[in-house]
Amino acid sequence: MKILIFGVNGFIGHHLTNRILGTTDWSVYGMDLGVDRLSTSLDNPRFHFLEGDISINKEWIEYHIKKCDAILPLVAIATPKSYVENPVGVFNLDFEMNLNIIKQCVKYHKRVLFPSTSEVYGASTDPEFKEDETFLVVGPIQKERWIYSCCKQLLDRVIYAHGTRGDLEFTLFRPFNWVGPRLDSLDTAKEGSSRVVTQFIAELLMKHPLSLVDGGGQKRCFTYVDDGIDALMKILENKDDCCKNQIINIGNPHNECSVKELACILKKIFMEHPDHKSDPVYSEIVEVSAGSFYGKGYQDIYTRKPSIEKAQKLLGWTPATGLEESLRKTLYAFLEENER
Ligand code: UDP
Repeated sequence: MKILIFGVNGFIGHHLTNRILGTTDWSVYGMDLGVDRLSTSLDNPRFHFLEGDISINKEWIEYHIKKCDAILPLVAIATPKSYVENPVGVFNLDFEMNLNIIKQCVKYHKRVLFPSTSEVYGASTDPEFKEDETFLVVGPIQKERWIYSCCKQLLDRVIYAHGTRGDLEFTLFRPFNWVGPRLDSLDTAKEGSSRVVTQFIAELLMKHPLSLVDGGGQKRCFTYVDDGIDALMKILENKDDCCKNQIINIGNPHNECSVKELACILKKIFMEHPDHKSDPVYSEIVEVSAGSFYGKGYQDIYTRKPSIEKAQKLLGWTPATGLEESLRKTLYAFLEENER
């Protein structure tokens, strides 16, 4: 197979590329603005890379969509701080640019694996989110956090409408707080605009306080990236067309924990690390208001737990990596990177 990945240097893109090149005879065609996570793939003869921009390199995009068997448009801004600071930028990239790619996939009747998001379930109070049943619940317009959720939801609906009319073939996958090596850059975390796990790791390194937004009682299910990639590989394999025109949650419901618990576990793992167990001081854990941390456009999600019945049934997939192990591997990888 020929797999086309936009955003191939991103968190999911580069992990998926490494797995494809390491375990199959498939080729990967990838585009990204950067290459810093791709060092292990760049020399592989089955990896074809263009350093480019999806808003500019239109000919390359069309040519490769026509040529490839499966397309993963992974380019997106996916950090809550950006949703409130730059909602128009999120719309332009996450919605408009990706819509252009979807239109090309329709033109050539291609197979698309589209990264929907657990964020589309929004503030649903269902104890477990089910792909084909749960209501998608967002807040008022002034709460700009929801622009990402809405962009993704509308693309989900556009892709679904095309797919069920035979214009393309799709699988929408919904990652639930995937974590792992190279999740976000430590530099963005040092500026304070990262996802929670990287943010806390950067604070631990800088000896700055870990901030629990509104007390940190809100819960997430952290999913180790290798487990997520296992599921994506099964979706790519698509045995007996099992994923054709399906929406699939990819998350680990057993790894549910509150943000406060997360802070305590990461701090404990950091304090046990050989390079840090004798540090003279460690970060404190403090409480901050959502307003002061994110600004007035923010609204939080209190629980977000996937039902993975469908992934288990369609893919025969169950995540294997527990919470502490996922966080340990992630933290250790960041510490190594920081040493370099
Ligand atoms: N959060 C926090 N402190 C931080 C960063 C995030 O308490 O330094 C909280 C945030 O309010 C949210 C949760 O951690 O409730 C997860 O945030 P993340 O940015 O990872 O994305 P989300 O899961 O909300 O999409």
